[in-house]
Amino acid sequence: MKDYLVKATAFNKTVRVVAATTQGLCETARTVHDLWPTAAAALGRVLTVSAIMGSMLKDAQTLTIRIEADGPLKGLLTTSNTRGEVRGYVGNPHVMLQYDSGKLNVGQAVGSGFIHVTKDLKVRDTFTSSSPLQTGEIGEDFAYYFTASEQIPSAVGVGVFVETDNTVQHAGGFIVQVMPGCSEETLTLIEERIATLPPVTDLLKEGVTPEGLIAHIAGESYTLLETMPLHYHCDCSREKFERGLISLGVEELTQLLEEDGHVETACHFCGKTYTFDDDALHDLIAAARA
Ligand SMILES: [Zn+2]
Repeated sequence: MKDYLVKATAFNKTVRVVAATTQGLCETARTVHDLWPTAAAALGRVLTVSAIMGSMLKDAQTLTIRIEADGPLKGLLTTSNTRGEVRGYVGNPHVMLQYDSGKLNVGQAVGSGFIHVTKDLKVRDTFTSSSPLQTGEIGEDFAYYFTASEQIPSAVGVGVFVETDNTVQHAGGFIVQVMPGCSEETLTLIEERIATLPPVTDLLKEGVTPEGLIAHIAGESYTLLETMPLHYHCDCSREKFERGLISLGVEELTQLLEEDGHVETACHFCGKTYTFDDDALHDLIAAARA
């Protein structure tokens, strides 16, 4: 099954649900970063939230989620946009922590800290809002974020199932948001359904699709708004790294040239390397001087 998300509304547009299947992009993240299972689950869950939140933006707007926390994962960062493109990385990819039950202990891997969500709305400045992590298990943390920072009562369910051979076999999730005007009756019904919903990974293992997830929460009478493919995609380029190097300034670039004769940079998101040799560094120094 290819990765995609589905947006829907229900109950006279007073409830919004976006659900996604993200196994492919989570598995790509795992191979790109050599993630161990708990790191793969943590990043996969945030990539899933990131993909869904990205789809809620408009046009060329972009979203960056940064989790700054004290666990062995050493934080993580993801970016997404309205085209279904997501990417991300963790501070430490080699984290494997389990509960006694054998389930991956994402909460301990992430630790305590904060979620920072930066929206680049392409109008002057960017906007960042933050909220404290609740459990580090990601779903509850983002539900709290939406409710506390964006004042939108929300429920978030995300799950990543990593097989014993360390590959990501299932991944996906949903965000449900209650809009103004939602009746108490609807709210109670949605709360009951979410409280009794099996874990997302169990549903995905049973073959439940994003449409199926929406039906579990909103019932069969939802209105489908949009379906969008999702991808792990990095838009890094040599030009972007050149701009970054130029911003170091003449002095630092000259030092790099004299000490090493070349600079090799690697993209945090996709691992692609860019090498700047002696000639290229001279050009960059000239550009920095200009
Ligand atoms: Zn890249």
